[in-house]
Amino acid sequence: MIGGFDIQSIEDVEVSRKRVFVRVDFNISFKEDATIADDTRILLALPTLKYLLSHNNKIILASHLGRPKGKDLQYSLKPIAKHLQKLLPEYEVILIDDFTSGLGKKQIEEQTDKQIVLLENIRFYEGEKKNDSEFAKKLASLADIFVNDAFGALHRAHASTEGITHFIPSYAGLLVKREIEMMSRIVKNPTSPLVAIIGGAKISTKINLLYSLMKKADFILVGGGLANTFLKAQDIAVGKSLVEDEALPDAKKIFESFENSRCKLLIPEDAIVGNFTDPSIPPSICGNERIPQDLWILDIGPKTRQAWQPILTGAKTICWNGPVGLFEKNEYRKGTDFIYDEIIKNSQAISVVGGGDTLAAIAGKKDSDKITHISTGGGAMLELLEKETLPGIEALRSHSS
Ligand code: AMP
Repeated sequence: MIGGFDIQSIEDVEVSRKRVFVRVDFNISFKEDATIADDTRILLALPTLKYLLSHNNKIILASHLGRPKGKDLQYSLKPIAKHLQKLLPEYEVILIDDFTSGLGKKQIEEQTDKQIVLLENIRFYEGEKKNDSEFAKKLASLADIFVNDAFGALHRAHASTEGITHFIPSYAGLLVKREIEMMSRIVKNPTSPLVAIIGGAKISTKINLLYSLMKKADFILVGGGLANTFLKAQDIAVGKSLVEDEALPDAKKIFESFENSRCKLLIPEDAIVGNFTDPSIPPSICGNERIPQDLWILDIGPKTRQAWQPILTGAKTICWNGPVGLFEKNEYRKGTDFIYDEIIKNSQAISVVGGGDTLAAIAGKKDSDKITHISTGGGAMLELLEKETLPGIEALRSHSS
């Protein structure tokens, strides 16, 4: 059992002297000069890889990188193979261009104990995203067992996350195990009060999530671009702010649903407004009733921070996904920094933080070890919160024997 799910991890079974196909999430970011910007996801996969290697297994790794259309070498895993080689110097990392034929196939057949095979970007193969059964079978034919350690891809039913589980015994890796265990503390019987902070740009992708959270959370604090649509739904003039007009009816319905709920949905009481395209206009603080017509809401204001502070201080469980302002600009990151500071100050709460932009917003900050869990999955985290399971979890559930 992992986090209440009937699945097994590699620690629950005897995995030694096997060929193991490991789905990892090496979907990392690069700088403009094509060097690696952030290798966290590679580092977080290492415990599973080292565990399997120390138990005398041969490992075959697969990951996607970006969203290539076909075989686009811009998305090659070559720099990742090089980096992995540095991290695991006792092994030889071999990047396999095409595992289905010729040299690639031969290299896998002849893999030695001291070699780690990394398949080229799994999305270069047409069958991956289609979850093509024949392709999944080919992947499975490379190994005796399958290990999924790609939490960030667990919300995808692709050949290397779902299809393959139909052909060989399948288990969770150590990272996936920890992610599921931590997320379960939010999803299943969280310690109350549970406070969810939901930010980011858009509301449309988070509507169902808000309904799900309503059943579990005590407070939902909504900030960022998506709060603007809620403000407008309450007939507050929001100037030029980012708003999804097509989601206004949904925002109105959400307010109505929360009226009869024990969970409180809080939207910002004030804002920091400005013009991000014109630095000569300084940011200013504005009550909701006075948002200027020609400016944008770009952060939560001080009154909002003050109102949210006791809620964050009193929380026993905290879940945060999405910055509450345009954090990329220093003038508009106060609200996001405030959320971070309150989370790390609250030592009694279990805190789970995730989402690509949220992680970018807190990157390099002090005391991030005070956050109970920083999730590697953005979309996967949101979908698990919303649906309480994921295709990748379900696949392991039925194929772990
Ligand atoms: P998401 O990808 O949905 O998590 O959105 C993250 C993006 O939302 C970040 O790039 C933030 O800068 C942006 N964002 C947050 N608050 C606002 C806002 N008030 N107006 C415009 N963009 C925002």
